[in-house]
Amino acid sequence: MRAEPQEFGRVLSSMCTTPHPAAREAAERFLATNPGDPDTYQAVADLEAEAIGQLAEITGLSEPRGYVASGGTEANIQAVRAARNLAVTPEPNIVVPDSGHFSFSKAAGVLNVELRTAPLTEEYRADLDAVQSLVDENTVLVVGVAGTTEYGRVDPLQELSDVARDVDALFHVDAAWGGFVLPFTEYEWRFDQIPIDTMTIDPHKMGQAAVPAGGFLASSSEILDALAIDTPYLESTDQATLTGTRSGAGIASAVAAMEELWPAGYRDQYEQSMRNAEWLADAFTDRGFDAVTPTLPLLAVDLPDELFTGLREEGWRISRTSAGELRVVCMPHVTREQLSTFISDVDALRARPKNS
Ligand code: PLP
Repeated sequence: MRAEPQEFGRVLSSMCTTPHPAAREAAERFLATNPGDPDTYQAVADLEAEAIGQLAEITGLSEPRGYVASGGTEANIQAVRAARNLAVTPEPNIVVPDSGHFSFSKAAGVLNVELRTAPLTEEYRADLDAVQSLVDENTVLVVGVAGTTEYGRVDPLQELSDVARDVDALFHVDAAWGGFVLPFTEYEWRFDQIPIDTMTIDPHKMGQAAVPAGGFLASSSEILDALAIDTPYLESTDQATLTGTRSGAGIASAVAAMEELWPAGYRDQYEQSMRNAEWLADAFTDRGFDAVTPTLPLLAVDLPDELFTGLREEGWRISRTSAGELRVVCMPHVTREQLSTFISDVDALRARPKNS
């Protein structure tokens, strides 16, 4: 096998990043372990408990409960699954803001749950009146996003939690990407600030762990029990995870990254990434483009198609929001130097005569 993975030097669209060196090393050591069989692979099962303890500390969860999932998709599916399993209605629905990750569509599909999406306000946050009008006695889960995929926005979580409580639904917070930057902001998003039932927080995004390392957290054992099924041929007796065999590498790398970086390293990274996002937004605004002001280290800019395509041809890995704007995620591997080169390419493409 001769293939080499791509370099991160021109990757501006990804929510994954280069793992911290300690996370990389830990992942390699635990490659051949399977936390899906915890009584056989006890060392990695113990590490998973450590990972959940660390995630609980970061998210203000008093009793650590949850597991290291394959990513945000699995964690979101599990939140929907738990809510559906705990509910009595034969016609369950979930209410998710339009900014919710597409994993909720997958969840609704595989779990046969109706997905109701609520429009956003002009600030790209869930519109509370719309959410309120969509919930009913069959709503089993309301979702709030803490760090949206396209604009990095945080929904009004306290108010969404109130709406969920009013109809006896569970409240899920998707902090898959935002969970490792929000601790250094003024936002209220934690279990000890708001009544939250389940949360997604992924070490393999801003947490700088190796892929796959997602996080699913639950506020009560009842929720985890609603996910558990019997496991006849294993030494352990039940399993709450969606997948069977899982990656011990993901768990070990998550623990190593959090040991190294929580909290000071993550704070430094957040501050640096935020400065980069603001610098890039200013650079585009100075050139006459409309940029959506970053509130977390992620920005969107309205660029002409020709310029977007030109940047892609220069090798930049960039993506668009659903409204068509350029979307740049200032992950840990994204440096100021890299962004300066990117802006130089923007200038060069704009200076180039048309059709040349
Ligand atoms: N939730 C949010 C807010 C995300 O941004 C993403 C991915 O970018 C996910 C969930 C899905 O995570 P994964 O790709 O790890 O399954």
